[in-house]
Amino acid sequence: MKNLGNTTDPDYDDQPEIKNKRKGGVWLHLLLLDGSQMCKKVSSALKPGESEDTILVRCIGSKGCGQTWAMPWSKQHIVGHLVKCGFVDAQLRQHARDLLASQAIRPEIKLTDMKTSNQASHVIEEDASCSESEAGMVQMGKKGGKLTAFISKEKKQAKEKCDYHIMKFVVCSGIPPTVADSNKWKEVINVLHPFYQSPSSSTLSSTLIVNEAVKISLAIDKYLLSSCKLTITFDGGKI
Ligand SMILES: [Zn+2]
Repeated sequence: MKNLGNTTDPDYDDQPEIKNKRKGGVWLHLLLLDGSQMCKKVSSALKPGESEDTILVRCIGSKGCGQTWAMPWSKQHIVGHLVKCGFVDAQLRQHARDLLASQAIRPEIKLTDMKTSNQASHVIEEDASCSESEAGMVQMGKKGGKLTAFISKEKKQAKEKCDYHIMKFVVCSGIPPTVADSNKWKEVINVLHPFYQSPSSSTLSSTLIVNEAVKISLAIDKYLLSSCKLTITFDGGKI
């Protein structure tokens, strides 16, 4: 049993939150405050080349997982870690999962109950409808400020649709996401549509794939919760 009560880590000196260092929505802000902590490494834990003045962000469960992030930290990386960290509170982990799943691009996963049919199992089917909550505005300024571009809702949905299918193709084909950074790939995309920019490998691997995996994981939970007389077996392989 992991001890989740004490979140202090003797290797780090926790620092007060620095104003304006963590921007984002309210929910994301609260999640980051609960799940991570600004800190500095104590001198006894420093490795060669490290400075005790360097501000870091550590996972709140760093005593067990050892996870820290250097500046500039990525909120996506922090939340992506909280989803799978076994040393944080389960409720916090669930909030992180809900947040990433809500940010996954279309389509939504719809559970269809097949009990009444002749088939023996349920299926998870994709709902091709678009999310109506998406606004057609993109912040382009580095600090969320003056440079703001407006694109139409239709164009945003079209881009998300293309992004989704590229992600699906890359994952389901077992192709390394780094293919998206190659010039040959960009040439193909440019021929198909000269104004479409396909997601980079880092966007694929740290955002799109992570969010989609969480979305599917939540759908599986929902499916299992709706199943009666459920038996789960394990084939004995290694985890
Ligand atoms: Zn952790």
